[in-house]
Amino acid sequence: MFNFIIFGPPGAGKGTQAEKLAIALNLLHLSTGALLREEVSRQTNIGQRVQDIMAKGSLVNDEIVDEIIKNQVTIDGRNAGFIFDGYPRTINQAKNLDVLLAAKALPLILNLEVNVDELIKRLVLRGQALGRTDDNEETIKNRLFVYEQETRPLLDFYAHQKRLISVNGQGTIEEVYGRLENEIEKIK
Ligand code: ADP
Repeated sequence: MFNFIIFGPPGAGKGTQAEKLAIALNLLHLSTGALLREEVSRQTNIGQRVQDIMAKGSLVNDEIVDEIIKNQVTIDGRNAGFIFDGYPRTINQAKNLDVLLAAKALPLILNLEVNVDELIKRLVLRGQALGRTDDNEETIKNRLFVYEQETRPLLDFYAHQKRLISVNGQGTIEEVYGRLENEIEKIK
């Protein structure tokens, strides 16, 4: 079993690359952002609790996302492994995920590096194209700030454990995908 975390700041292209990798490697793509947006659109209990937090670009409580991920991971699927997208985002989430996967395979981290000007440009464009309510300028700034404070520190955590693979996330979708493929080829 191979498990991966696609990692990087908002706008790095995690969802796009995760989708391609999931198809190529028969992985189950688990995006906490997408799962939470679905809760909001169905106006479930969780959806009602998280919608304002998401609209501001702040992080949802660890307990909520941990529970969502646990439910997904324990479903016995036919996939070769998982690719986590948008999770973990805090040290506590990272530790929780390692506990969940301890008996399977600890995930490797595929980190997409993109500079901040490019991130803002992409997110503003996505807001115009897809109408995601959290892709407006003020929320984007908050999400990038939250990433720096809460999420980027995970890179050290994983680097210490030699589980971190970083690639340049700039260029075309195919160029970035090619870089990820190269790295995965080395560990197969
Ligand atoms: P992006 O990576 O572009 O910020 P996501 O779709 O991954 O977009 O996340 C959208 C929002 O969902 C986040 O701003 C946050 O409010 C919430 N969210 C998603 N994943 C998590 C998580 N692991 N922990 C806490 N909040 C999360």
